[in-house]
Amino acid sequence: MVPITPFSGQHAVVIGGSMAGLLAARVLLNHFKQVTVLERDRIPNFPSPRSGVPQAHHVHILLTQGQRILEQLFPGLEAELAAAGAPEVNWTRDLRWLSIWGWSHEAPSDLCTRPCSRALLEWLIHQRLEQDANLTFSPSTQVVGLVANAQRTVITGVQIKTEQEVESLKADLIVDASGRNSAVPKWLTQLGYAEPPQTVINSFLGYSSRWYQIPDGWQAPWKVMLVQTKPPNHPRGAVMYPVEGSRWVVTLVGVGHDYPPTDEADFLEFTRTVRSPAVHEAIQQAQPLSPVYSYRRTENCWQHYEDLPRLPAHLVAVGDAVCAFNPVYGQGMTVAALGALTLDQCLNQTASKGNSDLQGFTPRFHKQLAQMLAVPWLMATSEDLRWSTTVGPTPSWQTRLMHHYLDRVVQVALDRSHVCRTFWEVIHMVKSPNVLFHPQILLPALGLG
Ligand SMILES: Cc1cc2nc3c(=O)[nH]c(=O)nc-3n(C[C@H](O)[C@H](O)[C@H](O)COP(=O)(O)OP(=O)(O)OC[C@H]3O[C@@H](n4cnc5c(N)ncnc54)[C@H](O)[C@@H]3O)c2cc1C
Repeated sequence: MVPITPFSGQHAVVIGGSMAGLLAARVLLNHFKQVTVLERDRIPNFPSPRSGVPQAHHVHILLTQGQRILEQLFPGLEAELAAAGAPEVNWTRDLRWLSIWGWSHEAPSDLCTRPCSRALLEWLIHQRLEQDANLTFSPSTQVVGLVANAQRTVITGVQIKTEQEVESLKADLIVDASGRNSAVPKWLTQLGYAEPPQTVINSFLGYSSRWYQIPDGWQAPWKVMLVQTKPPNHPRGAVMYPVEGSRWVVTLVGVGHDYPPTDEADFLEFTRTVRSPAVHEAIQQAQPLSPVYSYRRTENCWQHYEDLPRLPAHLVAVGDAVCAFNPVYGQGMTVAALGALTLDQCLNQTASKGNSDLQGFTPRFHKQLAQMLAVPWLMATSEDLRWSTTVGPTPSWQTRLMHHYLDRVVQVALDRSHVCRTFWEVIHMVKSPNVLFHPQILLPALGLG
């Protein structure tokens, strides 16, 4: 039974208790007396994948920007990851990367993260939030609809289905964090609103992953191995990622319907067909710990709430429910963290204007969120548009020019450490892609310096 908040006018509800929902809940606690997170799944009492987050079986890279924001929201989280056995990776020292031009070399940088399983990261954040007396986490609770006022202009709560019954829960702000299959667009149409227009760009990329024990005494000058795909002729790639428990998560990818295999024998065989045998050689020695998991819902999909002329008040959406990315670029959790900061900032602006009724908050938040999403969206989709098999808009001449320029930047990054560092700072969302046009990069990339 979900407790009804005693703080009238001061309750926020989050639909979905995965990464975007937990991070939204963390910032909502800065603004609401009571926050309730409603999650359909049962929550395991130790780090373990659950059915609502099937992606937890696959490599989950938290970019440096994401790690920094999480540390800001949950001080000491990195130390907890270290204590749980997550290794430290410096992304310009410990990554062995087969780029389109060849293998990368070391460069100095402070791009450090603690690779871990997705299940561990979510579990640690969940544990932290559970310590907050103003937060109620309701597992096994499915949201089945929205509740609106008589005029249908304000969302006043949600309808929830627990193991026992269906009931209503009132709230002053409802945050949809229920992921890429969110039912909110459908519920909006039932209230007489339009669904948000969608942009979909699909490179038909598939994942297959298997977990391995890192062999005792394993020695290598790298910790993460990334064998990149290479358009137009090499649609296959692989990544090996070390996580807590001295394990590797090995994820194989194939673009343009060239899906990696789902059975164990063919998994190893596929590693021979990527652009380097290095992954194959490493995992041949290693003990498998899991079956092969596969995943194919990887299209970039943006629900343009910011373009809707009319939306009910007191409802916003965050995370994959607004914009889900092709996961191969590792952006989703970092963008969810940036979205939580946007929510916090927008609520601060509302408070500073003396508004206590959230009037105008929904469209303002979605405009600000869309501004933040523009860069990661461009980064992911313009890469996907390199493949002729991608379904989406035909690449413009500007996109094609950018592909050529970025190829040159990568080539120069292989032997100039400052270019290498800046390139990875952009990939890790620590810096804007604009820095790739600084004369110190532009000139060598154009062969002029
Ligand atoms: C294969 C794969 C690999 C990925 N790899 C990376 C990576 O390397 N790095 C990275 O940063 N990101 C990665 N991502 C993306 C990342 O997982 C998501 O962007 C991130 O988890 C944020 O998602 P979310 O919380 O918005 O939604 P989700 O993680 O999809 O969570 C939605 C939650 O809502 C719950 N829910 C749904 N409907 C209801 C309802 N009606 N009522 C109550 N609860 C409900 C679900 O049970 C679930 O817990 C990957 C994604 C995939 C698919």
